[in-house]
Amino acid sequence: MKTLHHLLGLLCVVFFAVPADAAPAAPQSEAGKAVPVGDFSVVPLLDGAHSFPLSLFRGADQAALLAMAGAPQTPGSFNVFLIEHGTERLLVDAGNGALRPERTGQLRSSLAKAKTAPEDIGAILITHLHGDHIGGLVADGKPAFPRARVYVPRPEYDYWMSEEARRQAPESRQGAFPLVRGVLRVLEQDKLLALFTPGETVAPNIASVALFGHTPGHTGFLLASNKQKLLFVGDLLHAAALQFSRPDLTLEFDTDQMMAKETRLRTFAQIAAEQTPIAAAHLPFPGIGLVRSAGDGYRFEALE
Ligand SMILES: [Zn+2]
Repeated sequence: MKTLHHLLGLLCVVFFAVPADAAPAAPQSEAGKAVPVGDFSVVPLLDGAHSFPLSLFRGADQAALLAMAGAPQTPGSFNVFLIEHGTERLLVDAGNGALRPERTGQLRSSLAKAKTAPEDIGAILITHLHGDHIGGLVADGKPAFPRARVYVPRPEYDYWMSEEARRQAPESRQGAFPLVRGVLRVLEQDKLLALFTPGETVAPNIASVALFGHTPGHTGFLLASNKQKLLFVGDLLHAAALQFSRPDLTLEFDTDQMMAKETRLRTFAQIAAEQTPIAAAHLPFPGIGLVRSAGDGYRFEALE
């Protein structure tokens, strides 16, 4: 597992190279208040904190970004969500694991605060295969959630397994490919990996929703029960201060900038019209709330 840890470290540098003073010194674990969704309840779990430097955003010059954000870094979290239904326990994404120990990797202790053990988790729904969403699937070379089937969007799996895709990726991001494959190999060895086609129902009351762009197979999950809904949007957006008012702004890490932008514009328009709340991976914890129309763009109303 030395190699995997080395790669995790590498990926950390590649994806989240931020100054050391950009986030709290010690990572904090936290389990938020449970949010009811029909017969289900959803508990936000904090994996850690981070900040995105404004220089990572595309679509406006730095002065304009600074005027919007008010600081050269824009704060966010790594949020994981626990879905509870009867005795069933599911997670949406799995956090960083050992990827950035100085600031993240708190999922297990946040889960304990929600009175849940790793063995209680029966399924994990993965939005995409970036390290900050799958690093926590493996601990010491073994599945960190020994009973959990891990549901991965098939187009996402195909992309990261493709040698051609690896060769075509910018050199700085090619190191992510062996990391992803290392995690998938551990799951496959224990027969825990389940691929699905976006659009399919992945669990009772939970449909997957194609939200491609940030990565080629990036996928959301719509939980619906008794006329209540919650859409888990993964990395549909990264910066609350920028991308609600300007959803056309993209992130350097979006694999397909144009598609990421179109997916965000389309999804914001739809959820604002339907008033479907979202649960997002990188909005400040707990990351759940409503997207409301505001002028030419939108604003976020965090759930109380
Ligand atoms: Zn992410």
